[in-house]
Amino acid sequence: MAIVGGGPAGLTAAERLADIAEVHVFDAMPSLGRKFLLAGKSGLNITHGENFETFLTRFGAAREKLEPALRGFTPDGIRQWAAELGIETFTGSSGRIFPKAMKASPLLRAWLGRLADAGVTFHRRHKWNGWTARGELKFETPDGELTFRADATVLALGGASWPRLGGDGAWTQLLRAHGVTVNPLQPSNCGFDVAWSPHMAARFAGVPVKSVTLSFGERALRGDFVVTKYGVEGSAIYALSAELREAAERDGKAVLTLDLAPDRDIERLTRELSRPRGKNSLANHLRKAAGIDGARAALLRECIDGLVFDDPALLAAAIKALPLTLIRPRPIAEAISSAGGIALDELDEKFMLRKLPGIFCAGEMLDWEAPTGGYLITACLATGRAAGDGAREWLAEKR
Ligand SMILES: Cc1cc2nc3c(=O)[nH]c(=O)nc-3n(C[C@H](O)[C@H](O)[C@H](O)COP(=O)(O)OP(=O)(O)OC[C@H]3O[C@@H](n4cnc5c(N)ncnc54)[C@H](O)[C@@H]3O)c2cc1C
Repeated sequence: MAIVGGGPAGLTAAERLADIAEVHVFDAMPSLGRKFLLAGKSGLNITHGENFETFLTRFGAAREKLEPALRGFTPDGIRQWAAELGIETFTGSSGRIFPKAMKASPLLRAWLGRLADAGVTFHRRHKWNGWTARGELKFETPDGELTFRADATVLALGGASWPRLGGDGAWTQLLRAHGVTVNPLQPSNCGFDVAWSPHMAARFAGVPVKSVTLSFGERALRGDFVVTKYGVEGSAIYALSAELREAAERDGKAVLTLDLAPDRDIERLTRELSRPRGKNSLANHLRKAAGIDGARAALLRECIDGLVFDDPALLAAAIKALPLTLIRPRPIAEAISSAGGIALDELDEKFMLRKLPGIFCAGEMLDWEAPTGGYLITACLATGRAAGDGAREWLAEKR
């Protein structure tokens, strides 16, 4: 039994099979779970504690296909699983669930240890390169090409973000060559380019803009983002990234509307901005009258005509609905996750490829996307479990 890809999806599949099969996990990298470890650098948001029905809606169009897997490994189930590995979790104020240690390494260490104890063999520095004519898996290794005959295989190769951690999306061609529909991998939970002035890029790169309302299409949310040298990134941008990406692709740009002062209504802002400025500079006046300074003031200057600053009503309107033009998403290599991947209808209900019997797939290589908030790892664990259970049944039927 082969598992190719030693991220959270592949390791979960291995866990479901270790008691009935000789399980071999192959990974291109010198160590396993590198992206999982990186996710741990920002706290390892492993799942989310919100109402499960709401939780399911986070997967958009992919919900229907993923729901049985997500019901098979729920956020509560994931907390229980982590606890069995000796990792206590807690729910943060936003409902996000983290390990108490706020990192991934203790969990990954305990997990790999338990898998090794269960007899799983790990083959590092084995880059999967397709199948031989006789259907054996082919790997590039430091010792040259090796082949492996598997009675069943789970592919869990991830998307194409942060390729230096191992997942480069090269598998898309390998599966397409076998007639499997793989939708193009695209950046998800990603930053966007903005045509900043040189001053904005130099002076405000890295500065957070906190607690503003971002609106796009039907959606509006309050949150934080960060100005970068090239544009914007951060949790509130990521939350809208699917819609923004699609609009930028379709229209050549996506115009986001920012409310820079969500706690003040337009009448109050107009009134306060209409007060005589006296000897105050414009910057001081904006700060005192509207609480707008730093990066918020810079955003105003970037996005509206200078004449608007002379008209309190127009200025108030701009503060409440500032159009920020995003040009394109940042490259997938920088994204938190990937959209696109294996079209979900290529998989049967056991997560087996209909065109390649005995080959199961899991994790981010499948065509679903979700915002940050623990949904990504949850779906990788849940589909890893479903694919592992599918392979288990397949092996049982064949014996
Ligand atoms: C900076 C950052 C922070 C994140 N934070 C969070 C978070 O807090 N919460 C959350 O839910 N998600 C987070 N994510 C996303 C999460 O880490 C991924 O969704 C998850 O790791 C995907 O799991 P996976 O098993 O499908 O793939 P991966 O974790 O990418 O694992 C795939 C494995 O396959 C191997 N591989 C790829 N190609 C080959 C090949 N040809 N041959 C052999 N091996 C191969 C790779 O080396 C890798 O080990 C974060 C991601 C990033 C980049």
